[in-house]
Amino acid sequence: MRELLMIPGPVEFEEEVLRALGAPSLSHTDPAFIVTFGRALQRLREVCLAPSAQPFVVSGSGTLAMEMAVANLVEPGDAALVVNTGYFSDRMAKILERHGAKVTHVRASPGDAPSVAKVKSQLERGGFKVMTVTHVDTSTGVLAPVEGLVKAARALGVLSVVDGVCATAGEVFHQDAWGADVYLTASQKAVGVPPGLALVTASPQAMAAWKGRKAPVASVYSDWAEWLPIMEAYAGGKPSYFATPPVNLVSALDVSLGQILAEGMEARFARHQRLARAFRAAWSALGLRLLPVSEAVTANTLSAVYYPEGVDASLVGRVKAEGVVIAGGLHPDLKTRYFRVGHMNRVGPGDVLVTVGAVERALLAAGHRAEAGAGLRAAESVLAAR
Ligand code: PMP
Repeated sequence: MRELLMIPGPVEFEEEVLRALGAPSLSHTDPAFIVTFGRALQRLREVCLAPSAQPFVVSGSGTLAMEMAVANLVEPGDAALVVNTGYFSDRMAKILERHGAKVTHVRASPGDAPSVAKVKSQLERGGFKVMTVTHVDTSTGVLAPVEGLVKAARALGVLSVVDGVCATAGEVFHQDAWGADVYLTASQKAVGVPPGLALVTASPQAMAAWKGRKAPVASVYSDWAEWLPIMEAYAGGKPSYFATPPVNLVSALDVSLGQILAEGMEARFARHQRLARAFRAAWSALGLRLLPVSEAVTANTLSAVYYPEGVDASLVGRVKAEGVVIAGGLHPDLKTRYFRVGHMNRVGPGDVLVTVGAVERALLAAGHRAEAGAGLRAAESVLAAR
């Protein structure tokens, strides 16, 4: 039986992207590959709506993109404010501390995000060099109020680092217009490419902060001093080498970014919102409760849903038996109490119905009392209302 992969990354990928991945590898100095890499860098800027940013495309996962942002911006002793919405904000704090930052957290209870006002009042105390925020925390499905947060940071001269791993190319984000300094992500979610690429776009302010630093970057592989000449060479059509680029992944990235731009950023954001609304309607019709505490902090890229009374984590296996792969919980305090469904990249109305149908059948088999078809009907009524 064919399985549909509906976890919050990796996700289902387009055939053309997978073909690029399976093609014979080119030399990293082949003129054709240089053109591809240069175009992928330009497309990454366009997807992040960041014409003024410096893009970096490096072999690694999202965690490397996080480390690259921190390693280049933070010097030992710098103060950092972590807008903490869960598991991946904690990871960011760990990376900051490892690079010598003094970390202050602004927290909310699990399922909620700190308000812009609360973060702003912390920033106003002064002394912070960077503020980090997880755009969508994949552990809880919480969407942070990123626009207000990065604007507040910019107004106060604090560099903002936004972890977009579970958001980029799925959730609304205008890097230049909002004034975000670093947007970092990975290939395997809404960007639409199998795992293996760390992607970073850095504002002119971020690049200036890096140039002005006194302490050397404490990691050779993450150091923009190594990567900037490489990115500039590819953008300028010239061969260069620091560490072998993952040529097939970069070609696949170029294809996927091209598809994303052909759909159009606003259309893509709207599609993710519409499908997320259909999922939310289904969960509610099935009597399920979401982990995010309000619509305003609910992500459009995944659903984090509590198991109903009497149903446990074995639901994930039951859903798999129905042909759809979903994920269990991740937040350390709650992980046995909820499941997660990713809805990113090529997801369409058909995938929503297949997934809701599988979850519904699995719930009924697990003894949950709901009307068969209630979730499907609710999802369909959102999908049908254009
Ligand atoms: N940040 C967020 C928000 C994520 O969802 C993830 C991965 N799920 C990461 C960072 C880390 O990315 P990776 O697993 O690719 O290292």
